[in-house]
Amino acid sequence: MTTVYLKPHKEESLLRFHPWIFSGAIQSIKGNPQEGETVQVRDSRNNFLGVGHYQIGSIAVRILSFRDEEINDTFWAQRIRQSFEMRCSLGLNVPGQNNTYRLIHGEGDFLPGLVVDIYGDTAVMQAHSVGMHKERHRIAHIIADTVPAVKNVYYKSEGTLPYKAPIETTEKQDKYLIGGNGNNIAMENGLQFHIDWLRGQKTGFFVDQRQNRSLLEQYAHGRKVLNMFCYTGGFSVYALRGGAHSVHSVDSSAKAIELTNKNIALNFPQCTSHKAFAMDAFKYMEQSHDTYDLIVLDPPAFAKHRDALRNALQGYKRLNAKAFEQIKSNGLLFTFSCSQAVSKEQFRLAVFSAAAQTGRKVRILHQLTQPADHPVNIYHPESEYLKGLVLWVE
Ligand code: SAH
Repeated sequence: MTTVYLKPHKEESLLRFHPWIFSGAIQSIKGNPQEGETVQVRDSRNNFLGVGHYQIGSIAVRILSFRDEEINDTFWAQRIRQSFEMRCSLGLNVPGQNNTYRLIHGEGDFLPGLVVDIYGDTAVMQAHSVGMHKERHRIAHIIADTVPAVKNVYYKSEGTLPYKAPIETTEKQDKYLIGGNGNNIAMENGLQFHIDWLRGQKTGFFVDQRQNRSLLEQYAHGRKVLNMFCYTGGFSVYALRGGAHSVHSVDSSAKAIELTNKNIALNFPQCTSHKAFAMDAFKYMEQSHDTYDLIVLDPPAFAKHRDALRNALQGYKRLNAKAFEQIKSNGLLFTFSCSQAVSKEQFRLAVFSAAAQTGRKVRILHQLTQPADHPVNIYHPESEYLKGLVLWVE
């Protein structure tokens, strides 16, 4: 097997189980690894450190195991089974009630570069590394063997694989690796959702807001709710089940609004208290004369990279300031950031600045994060990305 040797002292983060090796840490490579190949990593004194997927780029190796073991069928089957058993024991795989959950959350499940979401009988799989791309067929079959409900595996990595990776265009195309007739209605906490993994964003649904949507349901009763950046209308459907007086959903994408309306109709066919608007968030908040008791702000990641951080923080401040201006007295604001590059503290500071600018009296009721099926590997703090605050605004 190809061996990657690290420069002296560059093994320290690996000894603390961080799974990434940056290209600058490499002293030499014995062999001529292809991108995506499994390599062994050793320190400058030839001590074994781990095995992982090799890739050309800033992260040169993603560690799959810190043990000297073969990355074979048994390895994949064990890892995938452990992830599935964890989801079952967390009560996320409950037929008739909840069959929507993340099965594999990359580094958080010790499988860097791989994301798999389950929607009823379909698994949607995303590779972020060439190594995971090369393993896609094996992984797909193991998922189908491990998760009894899964009959279809859809591979959706066109947008997530490294742009320059030496992969044939036809190989990269999004397609079913197994099956192809998925029932695209899935259940989350007893609610039904149309999930469009073929054309939708990411894997088709934002599974990561499940618990936060449940919290909103508890507070929705009798309130006038604005769900800004609604996408599939997740928060709106929960607000209606929670007994909201009315719900307005806004998203700049017409397709998202169409999905939201479909999801409302699916759960509440007689509903007359919901309206959806295909409009830019800032434009909506400037033009609307409606006032709200509960506002959700769940924008897309404003900063995908560190260099976009300043603008992102300004964006969060501007957006939250608009909500503070519009929310009624004793209103609730659910505000989120899913930018990995923005820390909890930075996000809170941006929201603080927005509050101070409007002079409203604001208290933090809840500090929210990603749910248990998006675990954070304690040795890889980068896996934590979702941050939210629930604020009481007087
Ligand atoms: N809250 C959603 C997920 C939101 S994803 C859920 O629970 O599933 C972010 C959404 O913001 C996307 O649907 C995207 O279309 C929308 N969006 C992006 N820019 C926008 C803008 N300027 N105004 C309104 N919506 C926008």
